Amino acid sequence: MGEFSNRSVAIVGSGPGGMYVAQALLEKAPGCRVDIIDRLPSPFGLIRGGVAPDHQKTKRVDQKYAQSITENESVRYVGNVALGRDVGLDELNQIYDAVVLAYGAPYDNKLGIPGEDKENVYGSNAFVGWYNCHPDFKDLGPNLEIGNAAVIGIGNVAIDVARVLSRTPAEMSTTDIADYAMDSIEAASLKNIYMFARRGPLEAACTNNELKEMGVLEAATTVVDPSVLPAEMPEEMDDREKKVRARIVDTFKELSQAKAGEKRRTVHIEFFASPTEILGGDKVEGIRMERTKVENGRCISTGETFDIPCEMVITCIGSRAEPIEGIPFNDRSGIVEHEEGRVSPGVYAAGWVKRGATGTIGTNRLDSYAVTDLLISDFAGDPMPGPNAMDSLVCDRDLQAVSFEDWLVIKDLEEKAAIEPSPRKKFCTVESMLEGLNATR
Ligand SMILES: Cc1cc2nc3c(=O)[nH]c(=O)nc-3n(C[C@H](O)[C@H](O)[C@H](O)COP(=O)(O)OP(=O)(O)OC[C@H]3O[C@@H](n4cnc5c(N)ncnc54)[C@H](O)[C@@H]3O)c2cc1C
Repeated sequence: MGEFSNRSVAIVGSGPGGMYVAQALLEKAPGCRVDIIDRLPSPFGLIRGGVAPDHQKTKRVDQKYAQSITENESVRYVGNVALGRDVGLDELNQIYDAVVLAYGAPYDNKLGIPGEDKENVYGSNAFVGWYNCHPDFKDLGPNLEIGNAAVIGIGNVAIDVARVLSRTPAEMSTTDIADYAMDSIEAASLKNIYMFARRGPLEAACTNNELKEMGVLEAATTVVDPSVLPAEMPEEMDDREKKVRARIVDTFKELSQAKAGEKRRTVHIEFFASPTEILGGDKVEGIRMERTKVENGRCISTGETFDIPCEMVITCIGSRAEPIEGIPFNDRSGIVEHEEGRVSPGVYAAGWVKRGATGTIGTNRLDSYAVTDLLISDFAGDPMPGPNAMDSLVCDRDLQAVSFEDWLVIKDLEEKAAIEPSPRKKFCTVESMLEGLNATR
């Protein structure tokens, strides 16, 4: 029991944004009862469904999140319950002293160019969800029996997509990639992946570690035109930025030594190119790109265009949240309307639904801790009924809520189904997770 044992908080979303709020509450409001509500039976958001399957070390942050739940009786996981579908915000408001919205921003931004509705055009969230067994995207069925694919963007997500499309089954044997995705990638006739960046090598949005991986792929070469790489760093750049950028440019220089076609697949990194139209009939046949240049930090169109034949386009240009009834929404930014994290009395926002889809897992930590400080300082008045009232609601509505113990059973089934050295064979649907769980009862 702690000072805050008469208070309760619902966190909607168990990704990093929500989990760091839970951790902050454990530290700063001892005894406060915390329900972490997620629409999926499986917790931890993009750690499971976004982070690349060949980055298992990054995914291991889930062990810390799990500890926050298993080691603290005051924290519960309430999976398979969705805000907006199973429970309304006004209802959560009547149950808990505070509600934290941390339900992420998983809807892909649009390019806003003609042809975007053609077959085989995907946003990165959908594509990444497909190879990561996310129940929303397991049936995406991208056609990889193609020659060329275009990836729009050169941030880390774009690099993840290009890299996973280039990996062999041997390279992926230690991962939890969906079997159907690995089979399809391995069997694919895909030869060339064109990555297009609107700006130049000095502005590339990826990090050096991710970029370096592109130089050591077993069955793919990554090529860059050396003539676009700067010989020197700009004078006006501050020293810290110069150091970071110089490393990335050095990696581009290393990549520029490779030759297209040396291996089964080639990833072509093209700078100063922005898409203006996706070409073809119902299906994608190519992409029209416009040359750009960067002047005084601004990206400017030159009017010069060129076409690249390709049969698939994957846009990696960020994502937005969804509006949920009763929650003020900023349609332009694609996030929940808030002031420093306060949405309305007793309602707060954290993670990507608050800040938009930027930054790393760690970026969420500082931010979630700051929102938790606000939330605690706002506690006032009589305590609300808390988790028991949530249990009654779940029971009255006949919802099959998944507790953390239930999740551990599902997780165990996934681990047992894996073929070594793969860590787990994921269930790809909510139904199969629940069936697996129910069969053990
Ligand atoms: C493809 C990709 C790869 C990435 N790789 C890395 C990486 O390698 N390293 C790194 O540092 N960062 C990486 N990131 C960034 C990192 O994943 C994010 O910073 C982080 O996941 C954002 O956390 P979040 O909690 O706001 O959202 P999310 O992680 O998206 O979590 C949101 C949660 O809310 C739940 N939810 C959604 N709607 C509802 C609802 N209506 N009711 C209840 N629950 C709901 C979802 O099921 C989900 O569990 C990556 C991002 C992407 C997109």
